[in-house]
Amino acid sequence: MARLIEELRKLPGIGSKNAQRLAFHILRSNGEDAEALADAIRNLKAKLQLCSNCNNITDVDPCVYCASPTRNQRLVCVVEEPTNIATIEKTRSYNGVFHVLHGTLSPLHGVGPEHLRTGNLLARVSRGDVDEVILATSPTVEGEATAGYLADMLRPARVRVTRIATGVPAGSDIEYADEVTMSRALEGRREM
Ligand SMILES: [Zn+2]
Repeated sequence: MARLIEELRKLPGIGSKNAQRLAFHILRSNGEDAEALADAIRNLKAKLQLCSNCNNITDVDPCVYCASPTRNQRLVCVVEEPTNIATIEKTRSYNGVFHVLHGTLSPLHGVGPEHLRTGNLLARVSRGDVDEVILATSPTVEGEATAGYLADMLRPARVRVTRIATGVPAGSDIEYADEVTMSRALEGRREM
């Protein structure tokens, strides 16, 4: 019991009291539920991987977006983290696919271009598989620097590169943008 409480306490937003409450809940639940929870946690680490095409976190490769026949595979929205995909999906106005960078440029923190996952994006574009790349990094200093870097990287490939509009408040993370704001930001995207 102490070990479970200790492990639960390491989760974000879970204090000692909550950890105890959760541990007692698991103790009182039937064996099947407890087993399902343990299985889900174990599978998360064992089965999840990055999509080889877009770097989204997935249990199948290619991921559901890259494998979808109903999505526009020639329209690619570049985001910082896998969680940003949910922000864009919530708008229900985007039918393209994604590319996940897993970070942004941050020279102050020693994060350079070599730390971003851009190789497979450049490969997709170079193969002629993409008509437009939408840069949907956050309107923060790091996000803007990353968008500028990507635009320069993609320019020789002669692909249309656009940047989401500043409907997303400057300096904020797109993760916290609501559906309407994000939808307008996508609609109002401009050439880079
Ligand atoms: Zn994918």
